[in-house]
Formats: sequence, structure tokens, C-alpha cells
Amino acid sequence: MTKQQGFDTLQVHAGNTPDAATGARQVPIYQSTSFVFKDADHAARLFNLQEVGYIYSRLTNPTVDALAARITTLEGGAGGFCCSSGHAAQIMALFPLMGPGLNIVASNRLYGGTITQFGRTISRFGWSCKFVDFDDLDAVKAAIDDNTRAVFCESIANPGGYITDLDAISAISDAAGIPLIVDNTSATPYLCRPIEHGATIVVNSTTKYLTGNGSVTGGCVVDSGKFDWSASDKFPSLSQPEPAYHGLNFHEALGAMAFTFHGIAVGLRDLGMTMNPQAAHYTLMGIETLSLRMDKHVANAVKVANWLEADPRVDYVTYAGLDSSPYKDRVAKICPKGAGALFTFAVKGGYDACVKLVDSLELFSHVANLGDARSLIIHSASTTHRQLTPEQQEAAGASPNVVRLSIGIEDADDIIADLDQALTKATA
Ligand SMILES: *Cc1c(COP(=O)(O)O)cnc(C)c1O
Repeated sequence: MTKQQGFDTLQVHAGNTPDAATGARQVPIYQSTSFVFKDADHAARLFNLQEVGYIYSRLTNPTVDALAARITTLEGGAGGFCCSSGHAAQIMALFPLMGPGLNIVASNRLYGGTITQFGRTISRFGWSCKFVDFDDLDAVKAAIDDNTRAVFCESIANPGGYITDLDAISAISDAAGIPLIVDNTSATPYLCRPIEHGATIVVNSTTKYLTGNGSVTGGCVVDSGKFDWSASDKFPSLSQPEPAYHGLNFHEALGAMAFTFHGIAVGLRDLGMTMNPQAAHYTLMGIETLSLRMDKHVANAVKVANWLEADPRVDYVTYAGLDSSPYKDRVAKICPKGAGALFTFAVKGGYDACVKLVDSLELFSHVANLGDARSLIIHSASTTHRQLTPEQQEAAGASPNVVRLSIGIEDADDIIADLDQALTKATA
């Protein structure tokens, strides 16, 4: 077949041919840590990356590879690999690029856990992060210096319903000769394809919509294969002999697959943030229905957000899919099939009313998760964004008077009825 197949076809078939050994139609769960070499020469060729095959499941595993291939296809990338969580994927995306004293420039509108990971934890590796308002393009340009090795943002930013102008940001990172890494978790490749807007690398937390049922954690790193790692001396792990892999020059040897192979052969080998085959299986099951679920998530989110916006007990709603959103034009450009199903709204009555609301809901689950088939709610300021300063909370769209909703695929009328009864109690 020569014509590129459609998304709905690829989400079911990409990365899966009937099992060579058994003809199994579904991707088997290869629950094996190691794989027998045909002979000593075969083993040597695998370790030299002269032949692609399986050695040990910390590096690659057939079930996990099937998932990586599927997500890579859906994102339109050249190569990719899976990790134990979305946070692991973020570290793994940065790992080949970074070293002590180097920095990244990141949007200040990010998942709360990412702000903590970049703002605090990566400093232990000698890496640092400058957080910038990504609507201020001059500030993004000014923040990039000689030691910057990546620009990082989310396509649809969690939790505030913010859409990043990926084309404008990638123009800046291109001009600076550094890669743009986009966290596509809230959008998924169904709603947004960051590589088509100039992203070099896409990371996804597969924990969320890609699995879609709240059963397993996982992450995926996808490389566009389009970045020229040898254009400057900024990326020696990829463009010069890599001492951690017997002096292999990854870019010279592997071209567009350099970043992917480095991520597996050095990153997963030495940091071990590997996805296990059971988790890959659950995510493969979920991803088959991604587009169906996302269409329903979006349709429900539009109904619920419009209902909330018209309700006098509500101060404001941040959903980018509303006609009133300042990001309406960006939705049309960046994610034309919809602005996702994640947004916040401000409750009249502030912090106390938010807590009461959360405790009064019956259909919604109060959890630190998103992207589940079930509708979920969290009061970010007292939970996921608790470790942030008030200024960071505000910038991230997680002020004390707002709650974040992750709208599920139930009947929209039932979701609205639950919010209605809980708002009555919360604002009584
Ligand atoms: C959940 C999430 C992460 C982290 O993923 P985990 O799988 O929980 O490690 C990163 N970014 C975004 C946008 C998320 O929603």
C-alpha cells in the first residue's frame, strides 16, 4: 500500500504485524527479560548496532517496541522509544542533549510535576531551566543563551487550557540552532501533531489519553529525525564519538535515527527508565480507540465548558474551545479537531468553595490524574501545584479559586447534573 493510511487505521494497525512465531493477531506480551542470540557473531552485531534485534528488555522488548512504533507513526516521527512514565520520558528526551552547566528554556505553563522536575530536581545533574511566558516571544529569544540545549513546552498546556503557538516557538528554536521538545500529553497526536509545527522531539505521558483508562503509567519519546545534530558542536553525544558507547558517532552512523538509538543504547541502558511489556500491552489496547475517545472527550468538554461559563456561580472558564477564549485562533491552527478536554474554572467563593465542590461531586473522581474515560476533578492549588509559589500557581493557571476538570466520555448531561448539584452545595 503506497498511500499514507489515515489516523483511525494507523491507531489500530501501526507497529503490529501478525506474530512471526504463532500468527497471533494481537501484539503478544513478550514477558521475557532476555532474547537468545543465534550465535556469537549475531550477538556482536547486535551490540555494535549493526543489526537491529533484541538483547535485553531494559533496552528493547517486542511488545514495548510495537507501542513505540505505533506512537511514532501517529506523531509522524522517524523513531521513538517508550519509558516507565511521562516524567521518565522528559528526562530521557533531555539526556542526549544535556550536561552539567547547560540549560533549557521552558514555558511557565506546564504540568505542575514538570515545573518541579525542571525547577528543582534536574539541578542535581547540573542542568537548569529558565521558565518564560511563551506568549512573550522576545522573552523566549532573550532567555536562550550559549548554554541552552533545548526549548520545552506543552502543545495544550496543563491545567489552564492554554495553546502554545508552536510555529512561532519553533521558528525561534530553529534560528538558535536548538531542538524544540513538545509535551503532547493533553492533546495527543489525534488533536495535535507538533512535528508538523516544527517540533524536533515529542514526549507523551502514555498514562493519560493514550491508554485512556487510568490503568498504567508510561511515557514515550518520539524524534522527528529532522534535526541536524552535527550543524554545531553543541550536541557532542550525538555528533562526536560517544565515550559511553565505545566511541560510536551516532549521527554519522545512524543519521535520522541517531537520537532514538542514543536514547535506547545509552539512555535506557544506563538510566533504566524502561517500560515493561504488561504496561505496553494495556496502552496498545487503549490506543486502538484513541480518536473515538478524543472526539467524545472534546464534544463533552465543549458542552460542559459552555454550561459552566453561563452559570452565575462560576467566575470564569479557561477552556480554549470556548468562543470567548483568547486562544480561539490558535486552536484553529494548532489543534483544529478540538482543544482537548482539560480545563479549569473559577468558583465564586474561592478556596473554601473549591474544596466543598470537590467533596460534593458524586460522578467525578477526585484524583491526581487526567485523560481517563471517567470524569476527574482536582483542586490543583491544594494538591498537584501545592509545592509551587503563589506566583508559579498563578502563571500555571492553578490559582486557589480554580478547580481543574478532566472531562470523561460519560453522557454530557450526567456530567453537567453532577457539577450542578455540587456547585449548589459549594456556594450555598
Ligand atoms: C501526567 C503528565 C506528565 C507526567 O507523566 P507521568 O506519566 O505521570 O509521569 C507530564 N506532562 C503532562 C502534561 C502530564 O499530564
